[in-house]
Amino acid sequence: MAIYDIRTFGDPVLRQRAAEITDVDEALVRLAQDMIETMYDAPGVGLAAPQVGVERRMFVYDVGEGPSTVLNPRIVESDGEWTYDEGCLSIPGLSWELVRPRRVRLVGVDLDGNEIDVDADELLARCFQHEIDHLDGVLVVERLDEVQRKEAMRVLRQRALEAPQPRRQLVGKVLSSRGQS
Ligand code: ZN
Repeated sequence: MAIYDIRTFGDPVLRQRAAEITDVDEALVRLAQDMIETMYDAPGVGLAAPQVGVERRMFVYDVGEGPSTVLNPRIVESDGEWTYDEGCLSIPGLSWELVRPRRVRLVGVDLDGNEIDVDADELLARCFQHEIDHLDGVLVVERLDEVQRKEAMRVLRQRALEAPQPRRQLVGKVLSSRGQS
């Protein structure tokens, strides 16, 4: 098993619509296992393939009842409203109060090719909606209202500015090695 680096905001892979999965091979099964490990390591309750750089329609989740993998998931029914403080492993450290349907019905297939049909509410329903958004190239920041989004973009821009640039890193190294001598 291997743990992937989780792609973060700004990585173009998070903006792509992932492709349908047409057949399950050993590599895909291994990918699912590695995604589950990566999700537990993060830790998170769900992880979609694009978050590890793979543009396939697959996600893994565990809201406390053991890990599951869903291929080609679709939401076929939804109703109600539920507010939840929603975060994303690809936008670490931030979360937003967000209203989405309280209940959804998810269909898809599992790794053995069996059809999945799950009625989910609250946290599990939220997880399904969030992960399917990832497969469509949609990040949680696009679900925010205008005030929330402006604040989010301000924080994310600031983070991008503070991220070390290669040149600055080099200068920093030279300075610190001088300091040691
Ligand atoms: Zn996410």
